[in-house]
Amino acid sequence: MDANIVILPGDGVGPEVVGAACQVLEAVAHTGGHHFHYDEHLIGGCSIDRHGTALTDDALQACQAADAVLLGAVGGPQWDNPTAAVRPEQGLLALRKGLGVFANLRPVKLYPSLLDASPLRPERLAGVDMLVLRELTGGLYFGQPRGRSQDGEHVRVIDTLEYHDYEIERIVEMAFQLARQRRNKVTSVDKANVLDSSRLWRQVTVEVHRRYSDVALEHMLVDTAAMRLVASPANFDVIVTENMFGDILTDEAAVLPGSMGLLPSASLGSGGPGLYEPIHGSAPDIAGKGIANPVGTVLSAALLLRHSLRLEKEAACIETAVEQVIASGRWTADLGGKLSTAEMTAAILAALN
Ligand code: NAD
Repeated sequence: MDANIVILPGDGVGPEVVGAACQVLEAVAHTGGHHFHYDEHLIGGCSIDRHGTALTDDALQACQAADAVLLGAVGGPQWDNPTAAVRPEQGLLALRKGLGVFANLRPVKLYPSLLDASPLRPERLAGVDMLVLRELTGGLYFGQPRGRSQDGEHVRVIDTLEYHDYEIERIVEMAFQLARQRRNKVTSVDKANVLDSSRLWRQVTVEVHRRYSDVALEHMLVDTAAMRLVASPANFDVIVTENMFGDILTDEAAVLPGSMGLLPSASLGSGGPGLYEPIHGSAPDIAGKGIANPVGTVLSAALLLRHSLRLEKEAACIETAVEQVIASGRWTADLGGKLSTAEMTAAILAALN
């Protein structure tokens, strides 16, 4: 297979972990006889410094024309001023919008050898293996009207939670399809006892479920879901939810395995290139030290192979190699080990071979 992959290393540890993931992609391409062409662009703070904008039109067009996009992370203390006219996160938002990706997928899996790294007791963690789908384009973060005004002697603020039925339908449909490839269960998370938007979410979910009656569906209020994620996380298979609930629940789920450095994500739309990135940020506290855990980005590359290039066997090989390395106790500092980014990457490459 020939594929064009745009690489956006970004800021902080981004270039370190993306470099590791590219080595793994190259190893897989070599073994499978594939040709991956890489096109590297700036995003985030480094793009602001060079071009005055967090993502240039050129970079966005390259991403739109690619088969897939692999991103590191954006941001850092030097660009942290929340009132600045240009900010690193603007690059991410422009990229998500420009690619039309509406579903953020975060698989959360526990590694038996790392149970002690989790904040939960080991007996609560056995069998945890879930996929959280967060809606990315609607809800409170984008609804209009929004803003702040003076109301007599008080300040008044408005945010609007808006969804159209089609926005709910497309992500719920994706959740059912993905559940069929897993343990056949979808938990749809809402706040239908209070919010109209959640009542529409539930109604559309029930309608879509008619086409997927082989998949078990449960509805769960977001407060209950937040509790169950720590009380009985192994009961979840696929979770699907709206933007802000997903923002919060994905971070809650992300701490279960014990380190931010372990988890990958994929952002997908209808056709078009997918966007793949680790869930962590630019980790400025360890940037440049060569100790960042590359696993989240390496596993993001595996998701890229699975969802954008349909190379399931190759994706599974990378996941197995990572599992073997972690099971053998070869860990980076965030997991309590001593390996550098380069050594961890070398161990994964060796396991692949
Ligand atoms: P962070 O995820 O960068 O770091 C949180 C903690 O986890 C830090 O102690 C860090 O050292 C550690 N960590 C993160 N990734 C690691 C890895 N691969 N290996 C080992 N340890 C790792 O979150 P933060 O500190 O809140 O944010 C730092 C910057 O990143 C901010 O500017 C923030 O805006 C940005 N950020 C970007 C993204 C993104 O690009 N998608 C996401 C979150 C935060």
